[in-house]
Amino acid sequence: MEGSFTGPDEYQKYFSPKDYLDTYYSFEHGPSPETEMIKFSLQFLHKVFGPGGIRGETLIDVGSGPTIYQVLAACEAFSDITLSDFTDRNREELQKWLRKDAGAFDWTPVLKFACELEGNSHWQEKAEKLRATVKRVLKCDVNLGKPLAPVELPAADCVLTLLAMECACCSLAAYRAALCNLGSLLKPGGHLVTSITLQISSYMVGKHQFSCLYITKEEVERAILDAGFDIEQLLHSEQSYSATIAPNKGICFIVARKRSGP
Ligand code: SAH
Repeated sequence: MEGSFTGPDEYQKYFSPKDYLDTYYSFEHGPSPETEMIKFSLQFLHKVFGPGGIRGETLIDVGSGPTIYQVLAACEAFSDITLSDFTDRNREELQKWLRKDAGAFDWTPVLKFACELEGNSHWQEKAEKLRATVKRVLKCDVNLGKPLAPVELPAADCVLTLLAMECACCSLAAYRAALCNLGSLLKPGGHLVTSITLQISSYMVGKHQFSCLYITKEEVERAILDAGFDIEQLLHSEQSYSATIAPNKGICFIVARKRSGP
């Protein structure tokens, strides 16, 4: 089972940022399960990081892939954001957007939607704010005890990881260990904000199929508690992707807080 799970080598070789973005983050094809999923995530993130929500100085986003939607709300609440991913091409895609390269993905519809939620019409300013707040893009591997090695950052106020742990962890034991690895990046009392697709065993990026850890909501909750967090919010949505791309049974959004003591 673990032998057939697509691991880091497959991500490095076959995960195409362009195919991923075109499939899951394009608003061009009109309303679809994928656009609903982005909107739902942005609404959740707005509640988490918006007025009265979590704030602090440093936030580390783990398994960013080639996407920036996940930090649009957070850049109003944190002054120093780190993006990170395992693959060179995903990190390069992020840099392209940060540098405003001509070939960078166009996030305009997503920026506009995130701004609408904030009652702000200045989406270009938001893009600039995010560019100024992202201080570094690092390599990461959630399966390492120090996921950002060889870099070591001061413990952060918040760790964010959306839709990545189920791709990176080949077993429930690996997922449970990876959550402890993420915990090591956080200050005691710091927040873990995560989303995970439930009961899905693979998804498509272009013509390549990637494995997912088939996991239930109860297993996710147990793993987070056992990794030293208290769960502050858990939202289980029935949102699904197009069945042909990634047939899942909903998605789970969680806000958890690292316990200070044992
Ligand atoms: N967070 C983004 C991307 C999710 S796609 C989003 O919300 O859309 C899953 C990502 O996990 C890919 O970018 C892949 O490169 C990354 N990944 C795979 N294995 C990993 C590992 N061991 N450590 C960190 N990231 C990994």
